[in-house]
Order: sequence, then C-alpha cells, then structure tokens
Amino acid sequence: MSSTPNPITPPEIADQMIETIAKWIDKDVIPKASELEHADEFPEAMFAQMCEFGLFGATIPEEYGGLGLDVTTYARIIEELSRGWMSLSGILNTHKIGATMIGRYGTEEQKQKYLPAMVDGSYRAAFSLSEPDSGSDAGALRCKATPDGDEWIINGTKMWVTNGVRASIVMLLARTPDDRVTCFIVEKEPGDSFEGIRASKKIHKLGYKGVETVEMSYVDHRVPDTNMLGGADGMGNGLRYALSALELGRINIASRAVGVGQAAFDAAMKYAQERETFGKPIFQHQAIQFKLAEMATKLQAARLMTYDAAKKYDEGKRIDLEAGMAKLFASEAAFEICTDALRIHGGNGYTQEYDVERYFRDSPLMIIGEGTSEIQKMVIARKLLERHAID
Ligand SMILES: Cc1cc2nc3c(=O)[nH]c(=O)nc-3n(C[C@H](O)[C@H](O)[C@H](O)COP(=O)(O)OP(=O)(O)OC[C@H]3O[C@@H](n4cnc5c(N)ncnc54)[C@H](O)[C@@H]3O)c2cc1C
Repeated sequence: MSSTPNPITPPEIADQMIETIAKWIDKDVIPKASELEHADEFPEAMFAQMCEFGLFGATIPEEYGGLGLDVTTYARIIEELSRGWMSLSGILNTHKIGATMIGRYGTEEQKQKYLPAMVDGSYRAAFSLSEPDSGSDAGALRCKATPDGDEWIINGTKMWVTNGVRASIVMLLARTPDDRVTCFIVEKEPGDSFEGIRASKKIHKLGYKGVETVEMSYVDHRVPDTNMLGGADGMGNGLRYALSALELGRINIASRAVGVGQAAFDAAMKYAQERETFGKPIFQHQAIQFKLAEMATKLQAARLMTYDAAKKYDEGKRIDLEAGMAKLFASEAAFEICTDALRIHGGNGYTQEYDVERYFRDSPLMIIGEGTSEIQKMVIARKLLERHAID
C-alpha cells in the first residue's frame, strides 16, 4: 500500500524514454519476437538492451543507483515492452517485485547490500510465493523455515518461479515455527542448482515463452538470519509484505494487458484494411467495424484505468481498489481484444505466420497472474465494503 508520494518523473524525461523504447520495440523487438517465442529462447540481445536502458533499476531510488522513475512512467514502459513481446516485461516483473519489497521493508543494511547490485540487470530477483497446493490461497503455503543457530533451514517445493533459474536472489515466502509466513532473501548462483536449491521442473507454457518458469525444490537449504526481510521485524510479516508488493504488481499486469491488447488491435486494424472479401476490404463490413470499435473502446478504458491507478499510487494514495479494478478490467479486455483480433484474421489468425496467435496465447496469463479475476473481484468487493460501509 502506498503511503509516501513518489518523486514525479518530469514529463519530458518520461516521454523521451517512452519514445526511445517504442522505437526500439518497433525496429528490433517486433520483427524477432515470434521466432524467439516459438523457440522458447531467452532473448539475450533484447535483455542486454533493457539493461542498457537502465530498466532493471527503473524504480529503484536514485540514492541506491537506480533511475527512480515514478510508477506511471514504469507502467508506460511495461506497456511498450508488452506491445513488442510480453515476455520482456516478465523478465522485469519479479525483479521489480523483489526490489519493491526490499526498498519498502528491508533493513537499511539489506537496502545497501541488494538495491545497488540490482540496478544493472546482472543481479536479478525472482519472487516465490506459489506452491503446488497454494496459489490463490497463498496463506496455505507449506514451505518450511526452521531455525538453527543464526541460520534458517529451508525445505519445501515452490511452483511457478518465473526467472527462477537466472535469478541471483529469490524472495522466498516460507512458514516459520510460529505458523506464520516470513520472507527470506535467498541468495543463489544463477543456474539449475545451487547448494540445497534445485530447479526441479521446467514448466512448459501455452505462451509467455523465452522467460523461464520453474518448479524449485529446497532440501535443507541454509539461509543466514540476516537475510530475513526486514530483520527481526520481518518475522511473521512475509505475507503482508508480499501482498503489498503485489498491489504494485497488479498495475504491472494491467499495463502488460494494455500493451498486448494494443498490439492485437494494431494487427487487426491493419489486416482489416488489407484483406478483401466480397469485393471490398473487410473493414468495410459493418460487423468488422463494430468489432474494431469495441476493441478500441475497451483498450482506451483499460489504459485510462491503469494510468489512473498508477497516478494515484505516485500521489501516495491507497490503490488496492483501483489496482484491482484496473487489473481485472484490462486483463479481461486484452483477452477479448486478442480473441477478436484472431477472428478478424480468419484462417491466417490460426497460423504462426501472423503475430496475432502469440497475442492470443499470451493474453490469458494476465487473467491468472498476481491474482485471478475471481480473486480480484473478492479484493474489490472487500475494499468497496471498507470504503462504503454504512456505519
Ligand atoms: C506463467 C505463470 C507464471 C507465474 N509466475 C509466478 C511467480 O513468479 N511467482 C509466484 O509466486 N507465482 C507465480 N505464478 C502463480 C500464479 O500467481 C498463480 O497461478 C495464481 O495465483 C493462481 O493460483 P493457482 O494456479 O494455484 O490457481 P488456484 O488457486 O488453484 O485457482 C483455480 C481456480 O479457482 C478459482 N478460485 C480459487 N479460489 C477461489 C475462491 N475463493 N473463490 C472463487 N474462485 C476461486 C481461481 O480464480 C481459478 O479460476 C505464475 C503463474 C503462471 C501461470
């Protein structure tokens, strides 16, 4: 939950950055994204360019070496990246969640140690809350942390760890003997295994390829006491820390949805003017015009809701309701826009010749990640009652 206003990024700096990224997306990402995605290949060159832009330190405060951008600018960056290839935003997202958690709840020592190392992309973060039997019901997690002198011994299986292999730190949520959930900053070497940690399964996904998502097993893995997020104050507060960072994560997912929706709309608009049936471009058929009109309207509403949540966050306002609404609306809108874009492409939409099949496969993730639509509705309803309680 935001409480202190963010320093606002001057509009001319934000616009210039977005323009530079947009040009790169058009020139170097869009022409290559589908090929890399089908090959499920990590985009090394694109990643290097993202480091060059400083994106891994985008929202890390300047005092720790980051760019210190506001969340509104960050949302626009995520939108642009996702317009090119949604997986690029995935490489950033868990890193940003980690940086947010450390920046907001870490001890000064933890901030000094990790944040400067996280700005250039060489030292990246994964976020590990979910387990095989605990997703929406995050509080049911079973991964165990047992104290042993000045260390903790971690045992358990974590699921859906995006960037888990390439990460150098994992923000790990585990159950402590007091039956509460605590967050540990787990240091590791990038790779499939490190000491008691193993990437035990690579998850093969419908879309969102190129960025790895793995199951990770911990067997008697030792973490020093000093790596408990927030120090002694962090004991039992892990779930609160994680859920608060996910509030920001929802703006990220909404921004991704807007980016993918924009890409699908652009593709459909172009195709509708090129493809002819019954002697005229299909855009001239009213049924297709209506689809495009609805797509553009949903896209605009999704974008405005996302920017509104980001702006309120930057102003230091509570945004649990706005972020939930933006994530719910934008993700469902993107799914519908991508489905309509595929329909407009007819048979071609069902082939790998056109990017629209990738958008169609990528879009459902936004409905699931960082809280499904059903969970968003529960969050929204709870917050509505808080804000509008009649007593
Ligand atoms: C590609 C990908 C990457 C991911 N990356 C990460 C990551 O990096 N780190 C991480 O920690 N997690 C990650 N996740 C996990 C993601 O957050 C969960 O998948 C998500 O929270 C849903 O949990 P679940 O899959 O266990 O579904 P479940 O919780 O089993 O839900 C199944 C269905 O039941 C519905 N449902 C559940 N409870 C209720 C209820 N009370 N009322 C109504 N409906 C309900 C859900 O909405 C859903 O439709 C990732 C997931 C995917 C697919």
